Amino acid sequence: MNFFIQRSELRDLYDQVAAGERISEADALRLFESKDLNALGAIADLARQKKVGPRASFIVNRYINYSNYCILSCQFCAFARKKRDADGFELTIPQIVEKAREALRLGITELHIVGGLHPSLPFRYYTDMLQALKALEGKLQLKCFTAIEILHLAWLAKKTVVETLTELKAAGLDSLTGGGAEIFQPEVRAAIAKGKESAAEYLDVHRQWHRLGGRSTCTLLYGHVESLADRVDHLRQLRALQDETHGFCGFVPLAYHPEDNEIPVQTPPTGFDSLRTIAVSRIYLDNFDHITAYWVGLGMKLAQVALSYGADDLHGTIIEEHIFHMAGANTPQLQTESDMIKAIRETGLTPVQRDTFYQPLKVLAAP
Ligand code: SF4
Repeated sequence: MNFFIQRSELRDLYDQVAAGERISEADALRLFESKDLNALGAIADLARQKKVGPRASFIVNRYINYSNYCILSCQFCAFARKKRDADGFELTIPQIVEKAREALRLGITELHIVGGLHPSLPFRYYTDMLQALKALEGKLQLKCFTAIEILHLAWLAKKTVVETLTELKAAGLDSLTGGGAEIFQPEVRAAIAKGKESAAEYLDVHRQWHRLGGRSTCTLLYGHVESLADRVDHLRQLRALQDETHGFCGFVPLAYHPEDNEIPVQTPPTGFDSLRTIAVSRIYLDNFDHITAYWVGLGMKLAQVALSYGADDLHGTIIEEHIFHMAGANTPQLQTESDMIKAIRETGLTPVQRDTFYQPLKVLAAP
């Protein structure tokens, strides 16, 4: 048994995880409130090892934001612009295809595409975009759109959510992104993202997608004005949907960045807070295979440490990120494959290049 666990107040939860038992919401809150980060990390590391063994993954991908125009004004968002703003943008489909073509030369396997809720682009723009990208390279995996974008597109197209998802799937959509979950607790959600879809709507978009045979990821935005109990409540709802559909292939906790927005948060999440959030997520979300340490929000150094606190994935090369950087992230715009491989190897894990669904594409040499 791990040295840190033997005398820890969390020893009973270690034993529960070792026995393969599910922990309760009360125990998840206990883990969040504990100051024993070493013991928490040991429990999360045990849960990770039982789930995925001595491996950690990354993906070679590229982000594309097709536009930052948005009809909503979520208080926490530093990305959205109105048509009157000088730094608003929207890309034509040929421009998007050109970005994809350049990235394919770098070996990407996935495009991750999101934007604001554009006031006037027709539904056809989105299906044409997917078809044009699949025509460029059929094997390129297209992970696109948040749940609120899907609701917006359904409204635009005057279709049901299921009809909208079905058409997007036929046009080439491989996976939904997990963005936009923010925090499910209604009052906090209204305080940071007024006008956005409800938790039930977010979950139902993913439910309908999963029922169509699709897979997706999901997120939690932490470290703003929510309580630790709100985080547990958020995880509870994700775990319940995963029990129902088994359609989530990974969970991505997102550290809040406070610049250029309207939420009065003096200090963004600390390293301690990020590590405990990743660790509790790994332990509580026992029906999720993969927990991602999102280096854009954490910084690569902390993301690497998170591999010893329950995470088993470092996300991707990304190449060009706008949403977190406009909110003050001072991480680089991209990571190279070799940097991610080195970061994983240093922790004693075997690096694995994965696809959109976290399936291994290439297993690299063990450390
Ligand atoms: S978070 Fe999304 S929906 Fe909200 S304002 Fe920003 S781009 Fe628009």
